[in-house]
Amino acid sequence: MIEVRNLTKKYGLNTAVDNISFDIEPGKIYGLLGPNGAGKSTTMNIITGCLAATEGSVKINGYDIFEQPLEAKRCIGYLPEIPPLYTEMTPYEYLMFVAEAKGVEYEATFRQVKEVMELTELEGVRDRLIRNLSKGYRQRVGIAQAMLGNPDIIILDEPTVGLDPKQIIEIRDLIRTLGEMKTVILSSHILAEVSAVCEHVIIISHGKIVANDTLQNLNNYVSPTDILHISVRGEHDVIVEVLDSIEGIISRETLTSSEPGVHEYRLEVEKESDLRDAIFFAMAEKRCAVIAMEREESSLESIFLTLTDADPAAEAEDNYAAEHEDESDDAAESGEAVDTDREEDEN
Ligand code: ADP
Ligand code: MG
Repeated sequence: MIEVRNLTKKYGLNTAVDNISFDIEPGKIYGLLGPNGAGKSTTMNIITGCLAATEGSVKINGYDIFEQPLEAKRCIGYLPEIPPLYTEMTPYEYLMFVAEAKGVEYEATFRQVKEVMELTELEGVRDRLIRNLSKGYRQRVGIAQAMLGNPDIIILDEPTVGLDPKQIIEIRDLIRTLGEMKTVILSSHILAEVSAVCEHVIIISHGKIVANDTLQNLNNYVSPTDILHISVRGEHDVIVEVLDSIEGIISRETLTSSEPGVHEYRLEVEKESDLRDAIFFAMAEKRCAVIAMEREESSLESIFLTLTDADPAAEAEDNYAAEHEDESDDAAESGEAVDTDREEDEN
């Protein structure tokens, strides 16, 4: 569906995207995850035909984005980092305008605009000026415009940045709904976001892909073992004897228990074996009652940190502050479409 090969983007001496290749298969929600400055927006801008690459190729449904941009772009709906909203229009006017700009046939326009407004729940604010909408609603307008023209692929660059927690939940729900109908690629510097909505994760760091796998496989990536927490009512010595008799437990640690007569343990177990049944029955045989047993998810956060060798939280905050310091709504207010090539502006 999307085929990215050896894509490189250099800004002067700075290599923002460094020889990356990946494929996007239909029908899934993909997460492009990486700290700020990793090259996510650059990658997305190139894939969507908004920015030229230094090297490499991108094919969308077989169309080369550089050689057949019209055909390729028709397959994609894009919500850039700074949504290109005309804030003096109402959502309805704006969406009608975008539909026309995208070449949606006149008769189909009304139906399509109605459909995307329904899906993004914009009917209630249909005739208000975009300028007066909350950031959450503006983002819905942004997603709605990306859907016009009925593209197969929706690409969203940091769709929840700057939203409050309630808006974030709503936009995530909307993205999940979108994922049932379309192939979705979203970028984020927030791990929790990607793990909450995406099935497949591409982790990018310093312009390079450092992981490209399903969320589930990524969870297995770093640690070859699982951690099991158990609470057992009984004699410590008996419990330990039982535990030591079970094959597949690599190590155990006794935790402090908050409940008298109950002992808690943290067990490191072989990843592939599910020892829960064995533990349960072995304990029961010795009349020790397993009152809780829980698998600890291997922390994706630690994978992310290992792979990107950065503290994403700290870095994200720093960069975010730096990036947004002098940024007001100017870009949005001015009604300019998002810069397709910021090179001149920033250099
Ligand atoms: P992300 O979206 O992951 O935060 P970007 O793709 O925006 O990362 O940026 C990747 C790198 O390219 C960063 O080092 C950034 O400073 C640089 N960069 C991005 N846009 C430009 C530009 N227009 N001119 C020069 N450098 C840029
Ligand atoms: Mg970005």
